[in-house]
Amino acid sequence: MDDYDLLVVGSANADLVIGVERRPGAGETVLGSDLAVHPGGKGANQAVAAARLGARTALLARVGDDGHGRLLLDSQRAAGVDTVGVLVGGAPTGVALITVDPSGDNSIVVSPGANGRLTPGDVRTAISLFHASRVVSTQLEIPLETVVEVVRNLAPGSRFVLNPSPPRPLPTEVLAACDPLIVNEHEAKVILGDACVSDAPEDWARLLLAKGPRSVVVTLGAQGSLVASSAGVTRVASVKVDAVDTTGAGDAFTAALAFRLGAGSALAEAAAYASRVGAVAVTRKGAQDSFPTADEVDDLCC
Ligand code: ADP
Repeated sequence: MDDYDLLVVGSANADLVIGVERRPGAGETVLGSDLAVHPGGKGANQAVAAARLGARTALLARVGDDGHGRLLLDSQRAAGVDTVGVLVGGAPTGVALITVDPSGDNSIVVSPGANGRLTPGDVRTAISLFHASRVVSTQLEIPLETVVEVVRNLAPGSRFVLNPSPPRPLPTEVLAACDPLIVNEHEAKVILGDACVSDAPEDWARLLLAKGPRSVVVTLGAQGSLVASSAGVTRVASVKVDAVDTTGAGDAFTAALAFRLGAGSALAEAAAYASRVGAVAVTRKGAQDSFPTADEVDDLCC
C-alpha cells in the first residue's frame, strides 16, 4: 500500500467563466468578458493540491473524449498526479458555467457529464489503486452509489477521508468509514438535518461524531477549524492573511489534511498544517492556480 500517499476518487470539471455587468433575465442576451477556461471539480482540485505539496497522488475520475477532458488530464499531469485511473469517454466532460458580476457574486450551472458516469464498476476495476494507497479521499460530485463502493473497496489499514460536498444525507455505512468527515458550516447543517439543534460549531462536531464517523473536522473559514474524535473537540487556529479569493480553500485543506494523516500526523497536527495550506490558497486568485508547494507553506510566517 505504499505506491501512493493519496488516492482521490472524484469529479473533474472544466470551469467556464465569463464576467458580466448583470445576469440576463429569461429570454434576454447580455454581452460578457472574454471566456476563461480553468480545470476544476473537487476531485481534480484535491489531487492537484496534494501533488503540489509533494504527495504521491493518483486520481480515479471520468472525463469526456473532448478538449475539456484533455485540459484536465494535462493539468493533472503537470502537477505530478498519476492519471492511470482517469477514464475517458461515456459522456462529455463535466462543465461548470460560471458568470461573475462586478461585486464578485457567482451564478453557476453544473453539467455533471462524465462525473455522473463514474460507476461502482469503475471502482471495482481500479481495485489495484486502492491496495496501493495509504489514504483514499472523495467528495459528492460523483454518484453516491460510487462513494458507497469506494468504502467497500478500501484496503485493510488504509484511511478514508470524505468531504461531503455538495452535501446530502449519507448512509450509515459511509459515515462509519470516515476518518475524518470534513465539513464546512453549510455541509454540517445539511448532514445533521433535524439533529442540528444548536448554533455552536462545537456542538455540530459532537453531533456529527455521534452519527458514526471515527473523527470529524469542521472548517470555519477565517475562524480556523474544529477537530473532534473520541478524545474530545479541539479548536485549530487559522493563519491571519489578506484573503483575495477563497475558491478551492476547502479542497486544498482536505487534500493537505489527508496527506499529513497518511504520513502519520495526529488529527490536530494535520489540521494545523492544512490551515496553513488553506491560508496560502486564499491569498491567491483561482482554485488550482492558488494551491501552494510545501516550500511556500513553510515560508508562510507564523
Ligand atoms: P470551504 O471552502 O469548504 O467552505 P472553508 O472556507 O472553511 O472551507 O476553508 C477551509 C480552510 O481554509 C479553513 O478551515 C482555514 O484553515 C482556511 N481558510 C479559509 N478562509 C480563510 C481566511 N480568510 N483566512 C485564513 N484561512 C482561511
